[in-house]
Amino acid sequence: MSLLVQKFGGTSVADAEKILAAARRAIQAHQRGQQVLVVVSARGHTTDELVEMAKEITAYPPAREMDMLLSTGEQISVALMAMAIQALGVPAISFTGAQIGLVTDSFHTKARIRNISTDRMVQALGEGKIVIVAGFQGIDENYNITTLGRGGSDTTAVALAAVLGADACEIYTDVDGVYTTDPRVVPEARKIDRISYDEMLELASLGAGVMHSRSIEFAKKYDVPIHVRSSFSDAPGTWIVAEADAKRLGVTVTGAALAKDEARITILGAPDRPGIVHSLFHTIAANNIVVDMIVQNVATEGTTEVSFTVATGDLAETILAAEAAAKAIGAQAVTHKAEVAKVSVVGLGMRTHTGVATMMFEALALEGINIEMITTSEIKISVLVDRPIAAEALRAVHRAFGLEGWENSVEAPFTLEKSRVRTKRLTADAVNGSSATPSTPPPGMEELVISGVELDESQGRVTLFDVPDQPGYAGRVFRKIAEAGIFVDMIVQNISTSGKTHLSFTVPSGSAERAAEVAKGEGPGKVSLEPKIAKLSVLGVGMRTHTGVATRMFGALAAKGINIALINTSEVRINVATDSSRGREALQCLRETFALPEE
Ligand code: ADP
Ligand code: ASP
Ligand code: MG
Repeated sequence: MSLLVQKFGGTSVADAEKILAAARRAIQAHQRGQQVLVVVSARGHTTDELVEMAKEITAYPPAREMDMLLSTGEQISVALMAMAIQALGVPAISFTGAQIGLVTDSFHTKARIRNISTDRMVQALGEGKIVIVAGFQGIDENYNITTLGRGGSDTTAVALAAVLGADACEIYTDVDGVYTTDPRVVPEARKIDRISYDEMLELASLGAGVMHSRSIEFAKKYDVPIHVRSSFSDAPGTWIVAEADAKRLGVTVTGAALAKDEARITILGAPDRPGIVHSLFHTIAANNIVVDMIVQNVATEGTTEVSFTVATGDLAETILAAEAAAKAIGAQAVTHKAEVAKVSVVGLGMRTHTGVATMMFEALALEGINIEMITTSEIKISVLVDRPIAAEALRAVHRAFGLEGWENSVEAPFTLEKSRVRTKRLTADAVNGSSATPSTPPPGMEELVISGVELDESQGRVTLFDVPDQPGYAGRVFRKIAEAGIFVDMIVQNISTSGKTHLSFTVPSGSAERAAEVAKGEGPGKVSLEPKIAKLSVLGVGMRTHTGVATRMFGALAAKGINIALINTSEVRINVATDSSRGREALQCLRETFALPEE
């Protein structure tokens, strides 16, 4: 029998009327003949209120007790939902995370799922009951209650859909889908009818709060189609699906996002030697700090600048760790800026289109907005700007890509039937060769998956030194490059020191000389050309939320004495550029580090 998982967020269960409306939705699916599993969040602002309650007692509540407290919000919701469904005449049963054996690690307030035992849910579903499960919570090996981090009910829902082999996971929320950007910040934003896992992973981790990014990691790993839709209407929402189903013709940029809560740290005058970035990020990771954007560009006179961003709340701790690391590596100084924000655009179409970067930089320049840092990946471009003007920057970029004028109606609405066969689903067949009972997933469900390492030897690198740190410069350079028909891959710009900065980018080797010529025409400073570089990438799921992947990559290269000239990070890959002569060796060393077979 087919199974549907439905998740109702806080606003969707805020009062009795809404709980009854959600109950009716579950019943409708049940009456269509599906098995139904419902995941619920805490009602309305309950979780925020619980956080406040703890703060009234102490500024430093112990994480274990915080989880004990926060988990109560979801427990209220499941009981009320089960009562509502039963009151409407359908059998239902509620479970806490502990009762379904949702086992996590012991990192209170940010626990990761290790295992889920499906027996109790399967039995209740088999008895014809609608099963209601508390989102966001689990237990560790010692039966301590844990929570998955704010917004974590999405992750519970998608994880349950994965282990039970559900047809789809419906996420009911207060917007009717995933929009081109947060509609609360940009009211002109449009609903996206379908989006790929990778695009959604990037958007969610770049600030689109509509989905918990770890839920998309599950969806991608186990190929669970997600339908994000409104609790308050029947309109079709947004399908988050595999790439083959998500491609839209002629669309280069799918969405834009803003992460406001960023702080920047820069290590000035770091010696340009193998092992330096490793030693730096090793110290940061040892302090359990999640690093977001990492930018390092080409060295001058034997030293380089490395910048990275962290959540503002982690700034004080990061400065201490960075200062210790800087001292250890013999860097000159550490600087920081607390009030910054990251604006990003994401789209699969960027892989094959030139000029996306140009459009973004020009849009910002037109508003007089200065770009502090740039980092790119295959499907996203992120820039760091001053926080007070960040919303304005987001609006400018959103407008520049015509996202508000997007007509979804041009194409027929997506339906699940069109979806290709989902091979990666954790069905019983896949695990034990029988289709009679759903499966138990392998332990460590949320463990990092490194899917591959890649070597690209087809590119060269151009660096513009001492470019003025003013709005408009990057836009002008990349306009000229795009006009010359040259496809730009990685772009890296670090923060400026004394009003000047360096801008590096990679292009196909055959075009590198011409790109350098074009760039020369734009710059007051020196232009350097490396006609051939080796670009090495580590690809995977959950890269950014697992601190330490970059550290392992940098550490492995350092151990071989391979110097890193450029770094670019994203949610789905980490790219570095090294000397072309070391490419093969670096590839081999990364394969060994991440235990990947030879191809
Ligand atoms: P729930 O409580 O249902 O989990 P959330 O508040 O977590 O709901 O997520 C929904 C909110 O996410 C929306 O109200 C919206 O303001 C915000 N949001 C941010 N980015 C986007 C986006 N790109 N598309 C839709 N909503 C977004
Ligand atoms: N109730 C939790 C929170 O507010 C989990 C969730 O809503 O997903 O963060
Ligand atoms: Mg949410």
